[in-house]
Amino acid sequence: MRRVVMVILDGLRPDFVTEANTPNLVRFTRQAERFGAFRSAFPSATRVVSATFATGCFPARHTLQGNAVALLENGVLVPHDVGKPDFLQHKRRVTGHSLAVPTLAERLAPHGGPQGGAVVFNNVSPGAARAHDPDGFGLVYHRAVSLGPGLTPVDNPLRVTLDAAGDRAMTERFLAEAVHAYRPPFALLWCGEPDHIQHNVPMGSAEHRAVLREADRHAGMVIDAVAKERDRGDDILLIIGSDHGHETVSGVIDIEADLIEAGLKAGPDSHDIVSLANGTSALIYLDPARASLKSGLEDFLRSRAWAGQVIGGAELATIGHAEHQGLVFAVSMASDRENNDFGVPGRSLAAKPRWDKADRLGCGQHGGLGFYERAPVLMIDGEDFSAGTMTDRAARIVDLAPTIMRHLRVPADGMDGHALQRAH
Ligand SMILES: [Zn+2]
Repeated sequence: MRRVVMVILDGLRPDFVTEANTPNLVRFTRQAERFGAFRSAFPSATRVVSATFATGCFPARHTLQGNAVALLENGVLVPHDVGKPDFLQHKRRVTGHSLAVPTLAERLAPHGGPQGGAVVFNNVSPGAARAHDPDGFGLVYHRAVSLGPGLTPVDNPLRVTLDAAGDRAMTERFLAEAVHAYRPPFALLWCGEPDHIQHNVPMGSAEHRAVLREADRHAGMVIDAVAKERDRGDDILLIIGSDHGHETVSGVIDIEADLIEAGLKAGPDSHDIVSLANGTSALIYLDPARASLKSGLEDFLRSRAWAGQVIGGAELATIGHAEHQGLVFAVSMASDRENNDFGVPGRSLAAKPRWDKADRLGCGQHGGLGFYERAPVLMIDGEDFSAGTMTDRAARIVDLAPTIMRHLRVPADGMDGHALQRAH
């Protein structure tokens, strides 16, 4: 049987893959092809990366623009936290679709058993978990919400904590139920570590490094389990990687306060201009009825020292976006490659988050186009990949779904990405 097993260690940086931190991943590099030029989506944030992965399409096509977004509801810009479990169902009611193009779960449903063709075990935010299969074609297990086909609750929901111990318990269930028993065409394990610890302690600290070793053990458990299944005769493509890296937060900028002070935005709750923080980036929305503000807004953003890159208009296509739902500018916050106190390079300003979320000053964050946050880990082991090599050929998040479909011999028409298998 041909199938695909994939592990994401959320937030893992390639420079953290060392013999001391991640011996199992170093061992895996001997049997896998490693992609040194792998790039995340924009924003480099889990929910939008999840939707981009699941559809093989950029945000301009699947229409989930960020981890925090605005929707035009009855002509009014309304800010939303995409991490909430029901956001994509709300988006469906407002815009007509959760994601505007099909997911792997939908495409693979006819190729699996009664529980569908895709099984996802996920320990990040509920909104990110739901982005893999918002309309219920397969199985999605998450500590807050576990659903099967038709969005019906499963009999045995995932009950774990968001930490290394929770990832461990989830990995054990993933292996027993998905990899060894149900054996769907596509089984995905998306661990919450090391992202969770990196948001809460300085990168490179002893506490961080201890969790890196735990995350690596979970990858090692899957590597060993896949070897057993291959011995049984299955042709398994094994993908291990991450969704984005992290930068150390060097300062926090309240973009909306700056806009109000400049006289561009009327007040904290006004709907004329809405800035949605996405970690080290921000999405800037403009009420379509206030289009006359746009050039002044652009001049203002480009004049700010905190704005590393300001991307708008047709240029949005270069980062996979389009003017849609009032989105007019994307800002990647200013970043540099200086070290933090533990010798870990890469610092960035962050946009001040809404909803009283933690600002992560001195700890890890991501979302922008900084050098370390936009370059995650990717290693692929299986047919048409070169074991033990490091390649610099281009690879993007959108290329993973077509790669999975190629291995499964299922057409991947209509995706933005391209399969990464080497030509025969
Ligand atoms: Zn992530």
